[in-house]
Amino acid sequence: MMKRLWQKTMIALARSHRMKTFMQRDERMKALAQRFVAGADAQAALATAHRLLAAQGIRASFFYLGEYVDRPELVSENVEQKLLIARLLADEEEIDVHISVDPTQIGLQTDPAEVGTRALAIGRAIMTASAGKAGLHCLMLDMEDSSVVDFTLALHDDLRRLELPAAITLQAYLRRSERDLERLITGGARVRLVKGAFVGTSDIAFTSEAQIKTNYRRLVGMMLGAQAKASGFYPIIATHDDRIQAEAVELARRNGWPQGSYEFEMLLGVRSDVAERLSQQGERVRLYVPFGRDWWPYAVRRIGENPANGILLARSLLSGRKGRPATP
Ligand SMILES: Cc1cc2nc3c(=O)[nH]c(=O)nc-3n(C[C@H](O)[C@H](O)[C@H](O)COP(=O)(O)OP(=O)(O)OC[C@H]3O[C@@H](n4cnc5c(N)ncnc54)[C@H](O)[C@@H]3O)c2cc1C
Repeated sequence: MMKRLWQKTMIALARSHRMKTFMQRDERMKALAQRFVAGADAQAALATAHRLLAAQGIRASFFYLGEYVDRPELVSENVEQKLLIARLLADEEEIDVHISVDPTQIGLQTDPAEVGTRALAIGRAIMTASAGKAGLHCLMLDMEDSSVVDFTLALHDDLRRLELPAAITLQAYLRRSERDLERLITGGARVRLVKGAFVGTSDIAFTSEAQIKTNYRRLVGMMLGAQAKASGFYPIIATHDDRIQAEAVELARRNGWPQGSYEFEMLLGVRSDVAERLSQQGERVRLYVPFGRDWWPYAVRRIGENPANGILLARSLLSGRKGRPATP
């Protein structure tokens, strides 16, 4: 009950434009967000990726912040930033060219007919930047609300047909994901499995945390099963749930998946100790590394995922440092 109330409050804060403008100017909030967001620009994201790789052997998936964009100039900015990070990554020997994209970032709400062309440009930039390099390079399609799942899957399939290095996210809260996963396994795709940051009605979605977890485990079972192994499928288990991670490690071992033939993905700043431990055990671990000027909605959603983060928020607000305009 308290958890739901806390999450609802944080989601309302994330959606408030006035709150965003106010908070993004506040140095104390900026300091708090630094836990979850690499910085304002691609260089800051690269620096974080280097730090993670050097200190813990952890890889990065880069994400330029800004979702559900409804202004053409912001769509252009998003596309430019994705292309820029791909260009910068071309000069990096050790860092994967692994870039996450939300379809609504690149125009699904403004001009859907152009989304394919923009995704294609980003996919090609990733391919060029990663040519001849070792590592796992890809354009990872994030999954947004249930109304865009068909579109996102079709976009993924189109990119793969063109032999571009596309990967896709599926959400365990959706009932349809089992069917979608079956098809993607058969095609030897790369799939990142998450629980889902959205809610749905019971005809399309599992609605309780317990049901979602059960379905997550079922889908992990498919991702690390014999058929997936035979088809060349690449499983990406994206959760902070250390029990599920431990079960996946055990299942992979039992089913003959060597370490590095699947991976774990988590969010920057969330349960960093768990990520580090997995990496120390020899597992391949990647962190989602967001960067960009518009950090408030993303950071407040992360804070909202765990009521214990309320302490962090209160400490920041009560800290003695004076608020002054940030240089995001
Ligand atoms: C790499 C990655 C990509 C994602 N992409 C998408 C996407 O494309 N579409 C989408 O709908 N969702 C996406 N998500 C979000 C995802 O759907 C979940 O909302 C989120 O990961 C929380 O679920 P969980 O599996 O970590 O488990 P939970 O059961 O929520 O958490 C497991 C444990 O981690 C702790 N924890 C979780 N979050 C936090 C936090 N912020 N701070 C402190 N502790 C925390 C919990 O307290 C609990 O102990 C993504 C998540 C990851 C990791």
